[in-house]
Amino acid sequence: MLVASRVQAKRWRAETVTAELTPRHQVFREEVRAMLAAELTDEIKQATAQNTTVFADREVALAWQKILHQRGWAGVAWPVEFGGTGWDITQRHIFAQECTRAGAPDLIPLGLRMLAPVLFRYGTKHQQDYYLPKILTGEHYWCQGYSEPGSGSDLASLQMRAVRDGDDYILDGTKIWTTHAHFADHIFCLVRTDPTARKQAGISFILVEMDRPGVSVKPIITLAGDHEVNQVFFDAVRVPITHRVGEENDGWSVAKYLLEFERGGGTASTGLWSGLLETEALLDELAKDLTANEMAELRGRAATLQMAITALQQMEDTVLAKLARGQNPGPNSSLLKLLSSNLGQSLAALKMSTLAYYAVPDNNQLMRLGEPGIGTQAAWTATGTYLNNRASTIFGGSNEVQKNIIAKTVLGL
Ligand SMILES: Cc1cc2nc3c(=O)[nH]c(=O)nc-3n(C[C@H](O)[C@H](O)[C@H](O)COP(=O)(O)OP(=O)(O)OC[C@H]3O[C@@H](n4cnc5c(N)ncnc54)[C@H](O)[C@@H]3O)c2cc1C
Repeated sequence: MLVASRVQAKRWRAETVTAELTPRHQVFREEVRAMLAAELTDEIKQATAQNTTVFADREVALAWQKILHQRGWAGVAWPVEFGGTGWDITQRHIFAQECTRAGAPDLIPLGLRMLAPVLFRYGTKHQQDYYLPKILTGEHYWCQGYSEPGSGSDLASLQMRAVRDGDDYILDGTKIWTTHAHFADHIFCLVRTDPTARKQAGISFILVEMDRPGVSVKPIITLAGDHEVNQVFFDAVRVPITHRVGEENDGWSVAKYLLEFERGGGTASTGLWSGLLETEALLDELAKDLTANEMAELRGRAATLQMAITALQQMEDTVLAKLARGQNPGPNSSLLKLLSSNLGQSLAALKMSTLAYYAVPDNNQLMRLGEPGIGTQAAWTATGTYLNNRASTIFGGSNEVQKNIIAKTVLGL
């Protein structure tokens, strides 16, 4: 029965993708496929297949962004007036599906999908004109300076100070867990501009160049052995007040708006579908090594995941439709974040269980040394992805924090 439902599900997925498409969207799909066939290089595909961290490798993502930008396709969810595609929700889905299927990397979201929506809404004309084109081309590479030691879930307790000095702020303090700060040339920061106000009321949102005197970056090596996150120190860093986005002391509104886009508005289900199909294919391949009981257990887990990914996809559609109407994701983004990070972890665990002893931990070290892994290529990334994924229910707001938000804003508890 499970096998039958799996076959049905695959057929269903294939049919929903094509049956509902209008001729205009079918033409668009062909256009995307043709672009991918012509432009997506084997080097980019190979590097994407071997990536085990949250974001694609900087050089790989930027190479792909450059290719997309030449077609005007880098700002997938951007309004046309800022250089975006202006695509409707179906086009965005088609694009995400086709890119995943072809093995293209995700573009780094920090500028394109996190800071940009903030600038669309809160940026001055000058900030929009200066920063947005450089985000689109990849000339500016951003990182996010929200968390501090002791201020993660309770973000509003943050201590980093910004003191006015004429037309400048002087910044002192530190940010931690800053993803890709060692690659970034810019950071958007939450800073305390009024230490006497209620904690949410004394915060401002400020843009800082990483090469300003007084900024330094120290690496933090993760459980998986990757250098992805850092601690960033600010020692009397001078920044013009024109670098502030939004009103002074109103940075909390800006910060929350950005978090809605960080947590929602993506198409995580597309990657999960492809991960599930890949794992199901592995199950078929390794069937001879498994007992009937083991196979039933693994197929059962795959079927449960399949239902949950379908639910996630429907929620994403709702949010994408809101975005297409010019609205922001709202508290739905917490539902999406919670569900997609749990599903990502379950999927990574299922792949490890399926591969069993082929998912050797040493593969992660071999990959980092640029050596081929042990076993088939599917096994090379399993451990690294599994270990890296453990952080997904913490970063961007932990599961417990998302549940608190859902309880308050969605369930009204
Ligand atoms: C890989 C990775 C990348 C990251 N990248 C960035 C980045 O680029 N920029 C950035 O600013 N930050 C980043 N972060 C930081 C991330 O946002 C924080 O780690 C997260 O918000 C949790 O904060 P914390 O680490 O201080 O843990 P804490 O807030 O101390 O939480 C510890 C535990 O207590 C639980 N908890 C806390 N408060 C409550 C509550 N009220 N109710 C119930 N349970 C609670 C939490 O769920 C968690 O399990 C990253 C983190 C990781 C792991």
